[in-house]
Amino acid sequence: MRVTLVRGDITEQDADAVVNAANSSLLGGGGVDGAIHRRGGPAILRECRELRASRYGGGLPTGQAVATTAGDLPARWVIHTVGPVHSSTEDRSDLLASCYRESLRVADELGAAVVAFPAVSAGVYGWPVGDAARIAVETVRATATKVTDVRFVLFNEEAYTAFERAL
Ligand code: ADP
Repeated sequence: MRVTLVRGDITEQDADAVVNAANSSLLGGGGVDGAIHRRGGPAILRECRELRASRYGGGLPTGQAVATTAGDLPARWVIHTVGPVHSSTEDRSDLLASCYRESLRVADELGAAVVAFPAVSAGVYGWPVGDAARIAVETVRATATKVTDVRFVLFNEEAYTAFERAL
């Protein structure tokens, strides 16, 4: 598997699948989630609502992942995953690792070879970006998958540097 870093906006990536740092409601939010729904158009939200009405009545649990269309984005699919909110009293690293593992598992099911990830949980969910980067890089490298290219798309210099160090 090739792991690359890009500084930029995940909504512009022409990967097979882009991963969304969603919240459990699957009904949109700020950060990456807001950008993906804004740029991807209403088709994504439509599928998210269907998922809420069927498989995920209680919301998508933290650490799990599910795919929808990517609507108007250059990618073919969006894989929504819910990162854990950072806690200073409880170690939630396993849940963050699970986001990457489960997203790759869903990518395998879809047949997606090139997958772009944001720094899940490193924004509003408060994860220290150095830790988030280490968990992200270690987990994708340790996961058996048919995905050939993992691209981490980092929105700012601090995140880019953290991933560079982790790599
Ligand atoms: P979370 O709630 O999981 O923390 P956020 O969307 O708040 O998710 O932030 C996750 C990371 O994504 C942060 O590092 C943030 O700077 C970054 N980010 C925000 N918008 C984009 C975007 N359009 N493309 C890529 N990364 C983004």
